[in-house]
Order: sequence, then C-alpha cells, then structure tokens
Amino acid sequence: MTSYNESARSLPIIDRVDVLVAGGGPAGCAAALAAARCGARTMIVEAHPVLGGIATSGMMSHWSGGTFSPMANEFQAACHAIHWPVEDGFKAERHAINHEKLKLVLFNKLDEAGVIIRTHTFCAQVIQEGNTIKGVIIESKSGREAVLASVVIDATGDGDLAAKANVPFRKGRESDERMQPVTLMFKIAGVDYKTAIFPGSFESLVQVPKGEIQDLARKILPKPAGHTLLYRSTQNGHVVVNMTNLIDIDGTSAADLTKAEIETRRQIPKIIDFLREYAPGYENCYLLASAECVGVRETRHFEAGYVLNEIDILEARVFDDWIATKNLFNFDIHNLDGAGLDKDGVQRHFRSKGHYTIPYRSCVPKEVDYLLLAGRNIAGTHKAHSNFRVMPICANIGQGIGVAAALSVRHGIAPRNVDPKDIQVILKEQGVEP
Ligand SMILES: Cc1cc2nc3c(=O)[nH]c(=O)nc-3n(C[C@H](O)[C@H](O)[C@H](O)COP(=O)(O)OP(=O)(O)OC[C@H]3O[C@@H](n4cnc5c(N)ncnc54)[C@H](O)[C@@H]3O)c2cc1C
Repeated sequence: MTSYNESARSLPIIDRVDVLVAGGGPAGCAAALAAARCGARTMIVEAHPVLGGIATSGMMSHWSGGTFSPMANEFQAACHAIHWPVEDGFKAERHAINHEKLKLVLFNKLDEAGVIIRTHTFCAQVIQEGNTIKGVIIESKSGREAVLASVVIDATGDGDLAAKANVPFRKGRESDERMQPVTLMFKIAGVDYKTAIFPGSFESLVQVPKGEIQDLARKILPKPAGHTLLYRSTQNGHVVVNMTNLIDIDGTSAADLTKAEIETRRQIPKIIDFLREYAPGYENCYLLASAECVGVRETRHFEAGYVLNEIDILEARVFDDWIATKNLFNFDIHNLDGAGLDKDGVQRHFRSKGHYTIPYRSCVPKEVDYLLLAGRNIAGTHKAHSNFRVMPICANIGQGIGVAAALSVRHGIAPRNVDPKDIQVILKEQGVEP
C-alpha cells in the first residue's frame, strides 16, 4: 500500500471572521494589527506557542537595515518601555531584540487591538470553492477545525496556504530552485563586552591574535559552517550567534527541517569551542539557549500581479500601487554552496538610489481570490527576496496587506479590486510615510 484514503468527516466551524491571518511572524502580526485597527474582526493562527515568528521563535538578533517601519518601531518602543530588574542598567543597541519582551509585547498589542489569537495551531488547508478562498482548516490539540473568513492573509513565510490553494510558485533561485542556507540561532553568555569583537557581516574582517576571524572560521569550523557573525544582545555578557549553517535544505519538507535541527545543533559546541579559542572576549563563553526552531531564509516564490525584482530595488522605484514604503536593505544572499556570502549577494558594495516601495500587485496571487500574501512569501525574484525578507520590510508589507484585507471586507469586494489609493489613505493615517 503506498497511500491511504482518509475518510471524509464534518468539522466544527469554530468561528467566522472578516480577516484570518495565517502565521504570526513580523508580517502576520503587523497584518493582524492593521486589519483590526481598521475595524475588521481578525483572527491570527500561529503554529508556534508564541507570536513573532523568526523574531522570537527563531531567536533573531536585531531588526535590520535602514527601513522606516511604523509597526517595527511600535514593537521596539514597547519593548524598550518594559523595565525588568535583570537588566542592571545595561544600555542595549536600539534594534537588538529582547525575545522575552517581544513575545509579551506582541501578545499584548494584538490582544488590545481585539485580534482573536490562536497559537499552538497549524493552518492545514484552505476552504476553497473554485478560485475563491472561504476560510481555513486548522489543526491542533483541539483537533481539526474550520474557520470561515472573508479574506485570508498567508503570512506563513513559506506560503503554505497559497500552495494549498494551487497558486503557481517556484522555489529558490530561478536557475536551479536551490534555496538559501538555514541557520539555528543561539545565544551565549559569559562574554566580556569590554574586549569582545562583534563581526556583524561576512565582510567584517577582524584581526585577532591567531589570524583574521572569518578566515579562521572558514578553516576551522566544520563545513558548511565557516563564518563568524556575532551580535550584541540586550543583556550584558550575552551574545546572539548566527553561525550554524546548512545548505540544500527545503524548508517546506518536514524531513529536511528535522535534519537541519539535528545537524545545526551538532555544530553549536564546535562553534563555541572556536569562539573560546580564537575570539577575544569569548574565552569564557558558554551556551545559554538555542532558538525554538531552525531559521529558514527562503522557500516558495509565488506568481502574482507583479514580481518584484532587483532593478526595482536598486532604482528605488515608487510604484503607483505601493502598500509598503521606505524599505532599504542590501542583497543578503548567503552562500548556497557553503559558508559566507553568495557570489550574487551584495553587502558592503550595495548601492541603491534609496528607499523602495512594494506594489500591492506583488501580494495579490494569480488565479486565486480572497487570498493575499504578506511577508517573505510575496512575489519576488530570488535576489529581490534576499532584500525584502528582513523583518522591518516584512512588517511594512504586513501592515499594507492588513489594511487591504480590511478594506476588501468593508467594501464587499475582492481584494484584487481594492483601490490601492484607498489603502494608501489609511496607511498614511497609520503613520506610513509615502
Ligand atoms: C537565520 C536567519 C537570520 C536572519 N537575520 C535577520 C536579521 O538579523 N534581521 C532581520 O531583520 N531579518 C533577519 N532574517 C529574516 C527574517 O527573520 C525573516 O525573513 C522574517 O522574519 C520573515 O517574516 P515573516 O513574517 O514573513 O515570516 P516568519 O518570521 O518566518 O513568520 C512566519 C510565521 O508563520 C508560522 N507558520 C508557518 N507555517 C504555518 C502554518 N501552516 N500554520 C500556522 N502558522 C504557520 C511560523 O511558525 C512563523 O511564526 C533572518 C532570517 C533567518 C532565517
């Protein structure tokens, strides 16, 4: 027997909402908040126990880039406003993430806005009639349940629901569908901040007593690990480490993800030994915690009304139908064959004309109605995606798409028929600068 036919069954419809957001990462949280603030009855469904996605469950170091993001700023300001006794007056960098604060802030923000929050719950399937999405089938400890929704926003990072709805997609880069490497983030303690080095990019070359730190990592760490990326945390002596590395992992395959959890975890002790021996300030460092899940950089790229490309980013294009503005970052393509930066990535030498916008069309999938894309799974090229995948930009996209979904409900029209100018009016009221 090679397949098993599951018998059909009736599912309880546990709710009927205006907007259902699948995935509670930076994009999903921003989308849910924006939709709820526009008056839409909104539910967010997140597979992990907490909200935040890679920012929290993935133990991310910092909000990257020169993007202006009202939602990311709001989350950061709320985190900074919390004072916990353990902080002993240590002044953290503004964009560094305190994961525990962020988990609390996101729950509070969404709850206060009236968003119905469901964590520990996986979005398993779309409820679809022809090309129209009518809701989502969710699965959890409570069993398999249905939620009906006027509009569904897929902010799962991987576009799980868009894939279920048969929106056409390609994985990874155009030439061979290979995807960026994955990384299990972890945090170490016992670092002497007064002497410690913090190489924050592949191109940060730091001379240490036994050589240059990137060169040493390339030679000494077990492949495909082999670069040094260390970030100041929000607590004295703690450092967030972005150094495990595994290539050729498909983040939409549970078998691959399991392999990645095991292999990257095996790299951690070797990375810590390396830091203790070669990195000044890290002589007494030790493992504090690792992320809840391996971080996946890239998976599916969907077909939509417009595929955002690298020229749009370099030229700082202002689209008439913008739903996200003031986005700025470099092309952060990690080496698909090993450690370090890919030959197509551009960090220090990245030159663009300035902030770019993201068009609504890139978030409206082909062929399927009442479904919108938000976050790293919008339509873009492999190279453009390496830029817009960072969290402040994903939060900007989420905000725009949350407003679009709420307007679709308010006007009783399909999301693809919502006038982008109407979205822009509300975004400006919500603090987005054109
Ligand atoms: C290792 C690594 C390092 C990075 N470093 C940085 C950095 O320093 N700064 C920066 O700004 N960005 C960084 N990024 C990029 C950034 O973290 C992500 O691209 C960004 O979080 C994407 O946001 P998102 O909301 O689209 O998706 P995610 O953050 O991936 O959130 C998606 C959410 O959806 C949930 N989900 C997935 N499938 C389902 C489902 N079927 N049902 C229910 N829930 C589901 C997930 O559990 C998750 O919570 C890094 C990424 C990685 C992987």
